[in-house]
Amino acid sequence: MKKILLLTAVLSISVIMTACQKKICDLSREEAKEWTRSATVAEMNQKVKALTEAEKEKLVRSLLVLNIPEEDKETVIKGCAAILSHPKLGFYVELFAHTPVNKHEAGGGAWAAGDHISLSSGLLAEKNPESIRDTLTHELFHIFNDREHGAGGISALNEGTAIWIFNMTFYENDPQKMALGLAEPAIGTKLYYRDIGIPGYPTDIEFGVPTDLTPKGKEVYDMLMAADRSKLPVYDEAKMKEYFEFFSDIDRDQDFQTYLGQFSERLDKWLQTH
Ligand SMILES: [Zn+2]
Repeated sequence: MKKILLLTAVLSISVIMTACQKKICDLSREEAKEWTRSATVAEMNQKVKALTEAEKEKLVRSLLVLNIPEEDKETVIKGCAAILSHPKLGFYVELFAHTPVNKHEAGGGAWAAGDHISLSSGLLAEKNPESIRDTLTHELFHIFNDREHGAGGISALNEGTAIWIFNMTFYENDPQKMALGLAEPAIGTKLYYRDIGIPGYPTDIEFGVPTDLTPKGKEVYDMLMAADRSKLPVYDEAKMKEYFEFFSDIDRDQDFQTYLGQFSERLDKWLQTH
């Protein structure tokens, strides 16, 4: 019994050692699964950053499990390679290696369901790697939240963090998105469920404050919060409530730009007084 345990330990140490010596794009899916599970977010980002764009694409090709028709695969591969091109998102390799991508019939959109992602036929038909990039950055972050005990379920922070991660990376030069920070994606989601609503879903959703984040989750949340001008108090339920109250009379069910203008003004007021 002890010998078997020892052998398993030696084997997994040797897999990890081989993975460290090899370039990450030369790993098999199984080796990548194993290595990414034990690596930190900083280590994954560093390994991916060292690759050329062609190697990033090669890596995506070897990691992704695509249960979609042949004609849709190239757009998804290009979209995923574009995710790895951002130096803060190298850690998505772990999500690519562990999350199959499926397809369903619908006009648009996508969803994350437990252990897989499903892209709609409408979204795939656009053949636009940029929309696939944004959609997968978002949906895979729901999977990340689930794996790393981040904000969960139907909550302001689960949706908010999954929007903020692609705003703060791919739209880092968009002054409006950066100015609204994590507050609008999160608080705005709560207002959306309350004022517009989605049939079959509650109108009063939770904040989703994470209480037992894994170390990997903490690394990524630190990054999300460091870039957040709105200083949303992600870890504090009572402060989140106080924050939300300050915005709660804003009507989400109106022209979107008007709403964003009102939100932005209120945010500046909040930041001046807090
Ligand atoms: Zn979402």
